[in-house]
Amino acid sequence: MERVILAGGIIMAETLVEVKQLVKYFEVYSRGIIGRKRAGFVHAVDNVSFYVKEAETFALVGESGCGKTTTAKVILNLEPPTSGEVYFKGINVYETFSNGKAEEKLKLRRNMQLIFQNPYSSLDPRMTVYDILVEPFVIHKHIPRERWKEKVYEALDQVALEPYHAERYPHEFSGGQRQRIAIARALVLDPALIIADEPVSSLDVSIRAQILNLMMDLQKKKGISYIYISHDLSSVRQISHRIGVMYLGEIVEMGNTEDVYAKPLHPYTQALMSAVPIPDPTTKSTRIILPGEVPSPINPPPACRFHPRCPYAQEICRTVKPPFEDAGNGHMVACHFWRKFA
Ligand code: SF4
Repeated sequence: MERVILAGGIIMAETLVEVKQLVKYFEVYSRGIIGRKRAGFVHAVDNVSFYVKEAETFALVGESGCGKTTTAKVILNLEPPTSGEVYFKGINVYETFSNGKAEEKLKLRRNMQLIFQNPYSSLDPRMTVYDILVEPFVIHKHIPRERWKEKVYEALDQVALEPYHAERYPHEFSGGQRQRIAIARALVLDPALIIADEPVSSLDVSIRAQILNLMMDLQKKKGISYIYISHDLSSVRQISHRIGVMYLGEIVEMGNTEDVYAKPLHPYTQALMSAVPIPDPTTKSTRIILPGEVPSPINPPPACRFHPRCPYAQEICRTVKPPFEDAGNGHMVACHFWRKFA
């Protein structure tokens, strides 16, 4: 068990979420003369495993379409897995949502909340902030009505908004304030886990830092765990403790954020990192431009899926799948030649 020091003292960090060999395929159909027939599967998520500890932020990074959001949806049971398991505090999520009692499902829902990318479309424009924030109480029925107001004001205070904001509508707020409201809506249920799917990518750069600082403050105060999904590596470095790099549905590198940023061992991670702007005009950028497009997830390349774009690819990369190996300190990488980069 690992010790994590929080503002309020020391807590023991236990595993909160465990994702085991998760697979999610979507069927695709083609339309012919004799009707619709199955044309194959989109390999959206393939054999993905990771864990998230209490009060920890685990970031999933990678290009659009690499499977980050699908992984989040399966964790939240918004999509059923094709195979594999997700455990939340040791409880099998899919099993609970398939066969559990209503109260068990609601408890799981309360504990796992989602913040969407776009605060302009995730808040109902016809509802006041008060109505938006009490809606979870109406659904979950676990907070008596006489405490709703107090809980709403508490949540607004946690995201640095004022009680009078409760009577306003979403269009009366800026983008940053709307994302604060979205965070408040997630917080009213006191979740243990928040999945934040590109929470700052639609906001101005100046507002991004405020929202990230707010999320980190809330983690210190309330011990929340985050799964932070992003393609913005600067914000990932700021907020996450550990990171998993996804390419075409698979995790190709995973480890402590500082280890991965200091020494990326997978050529794909190296290319991603090289695109991060360096705030020093005297340092020459050495950006790695990958050739070609991301291959289709319907027919992913065999063995190492990155081989058609990898500058170091050799014959073995086209025929033998690289094992996911520990390069030390839990820094995992799937590349036949990672030792060359260590
Ligand atoms: Fe590149 Fe080969 Fe490593 Fe894949 S296994 S990342 S193709 S060097």
